[in-house]
Amino acid sequence: MAKNIDIIDVMIAAHRGELKIVIQNGFFLMENTKSGERVRLNKADVAPATHGWWNERLAVKGEVYCSECGTIETQRDSNYKTRFCPNCGARMVGGVG
Ligand SMILES: [Zn+2]
Repeated sequence: MAKNIDIIDVMIAAHRGELKIVIQNGFFLMENTKSGERVRLNKADVAPATHGWWNERLAVKGEVYCSECGTIETQRDSNYKTRFCPNCGARMVGGVG
């Protein structure tokens, strides 16, 4: 099973009816409502719901840093202002702070 399932994405998909959570033999399963495919949901696979945002660095124009771990990304980096922090995995919400 893939690691770091974002619990917010799971809840959104469940809300849209794209998946449902099934309990079978004491385990939580995500069931795709179209295909019927079931995937076991382990607590360790679910990413903590850590949220952050990209802060503009005042000292260096064109650089941002993660509000959670402080990792710095420049405009030249492929991870510049990405949806998730490449270092700590925080989901970036609310755009640039
Ligand atoms: Zn981070």
